[in-house]
Amino acid sequence: MPVANVRREGIGSPEQTAMIYFDHAATTPVRDEVRAAMAEAEAAAFGNPSSPHAVGRRARQALDEARERIVALLGGRTTGRDRDRLIFTSGATEANRLAVLGMAGRGSVACRFSARDHGSLAAAARELAGRGGDVAALPLLGSGQLDCRAIRWNTPSGRRILCTTLVCGQTGSLEDMAAVAAAAAGCLVHVDATQAIATEQVSFAQIDAASLACAPHKFGGPRGIGGLLVRSGTPLEAVTPGPQEAGLRGGTEPVALAVGFALALELAVASREREAARRRGLRDRLEQALVAAARQVGCHALVIAGDAPRNASIATIAFPGIDRQAFVMAADIEGVCCATGTACASGSSLPAPALEAAGLPPAITRSAVRFSVGRTTTDDDIASAVSRLTRVLGRAPLSA
Ligand code: PLP
Repeated sequence: MPVANVRREGIGSPEQTAMIYFDHAATTPVRDEVRAAMAEAEAAAFGNPSSPHAVGRRARQALDEARERIVALLGGRTTGRDRDRLIFTSGATEANRLAVLGMAGRGSVACRFSARDHGSLAAAARELAGRGGDVAALPLLGSGQLDCRAIRWNTPSGRRILCTTLVCGQTGSLEDMAAVAAAAAGCLVHVDATQAIATEQVSFAQIDAASLACAPHKFGGPRGIGGLLVRSGTPLEAVTPGPQEAGLRGGTEPVALAVGFALALELAVASREREAARRRGLRDRLEQALVAAARQVGCHALVIAGDAPRNASIATIAFPGIDRQAFVMAADIEGVCCATGTACASGSSLPAPALEAAGLPPAITRSAVRFSVGRTTTDDDIASAVSRLTRVLGRAPLSA
């Protein structure tokens, strides 16, 4: 049953209690076709892809076919001696960590990242710093994009890793990849494309990067798998050693999840343009209605990165004077699922790093709520959510 239609038991009328899911940036429901393909693969290719017998070979074939489809759909090279390599991981968190720590090697290394990156990149960078690496967070522009003019390297030699994120998971701001490329001479650029796949054109061939991370649970695929696409010739060492994945990631590969990953990506790419336009319309209507509803109760709401280049799915709106945690809880009681920010930081009382680094004042960072629409979001969801959230705003105590 689609999440948007799940009914909450025991609260209010049926109209009031159908849950509306505005947290597609955290994760998305698996597409029915993907679920069916995974069930089929689980039955037909249940073997261990490393087993040399017929059952193992069948699993290996399914895994390799899925891998090749994914590389091609991400715009990577699938043939020739310089073909790009996809390493399956448990998700984008692990892919980010593998990129940063795996490319660092054992010699002198420097790494730059920013607050618009997911926490997994910051954590991997900090791990490098703990090993003596030259690590620093770069500032952001008011648009939420990386301030590439601030990139400095203190080390005269050694590897330089520059991390960037195509679509910021907090604000939806799009990275200026031309500016990154211009500032990245001599660097290994790692791109986190996790939030970009569903609505943005992503082509590894066109991005001047050494590696790219993503995970299918953000676009109708399964949780528990992700991938790191690595440019041919890029130095990379295993973080979790083992014989699988060409020695770059140990552990028996989840064949059915890989099959689901490939199909979800294929479907997302096929519907990308249409879906981006549809979501933009839904998101804009939601933003406009909530800003107007907030004004009615004396609150001057602000759409964060509203004037900046941003993706079609994420709306982060600050309601100055209203506590964001209280808003999200009240919205949940009304049957609207939204977020204070990235799911892994939920519950944190600290403002989102991407908002602070963009220079936004505490009144904004402490009241910012993320709404993310997705494939299952409908026109009716927007209309119903606006009336429910208008009630939330009407009840919210406004602090000075
Ligand atoms: N990178 C970005 C930009 C994200 O938004 C997320 C999840 O929210 C991740 C990485 C982590 O993904 P996963 O949950 O697959 O580890």
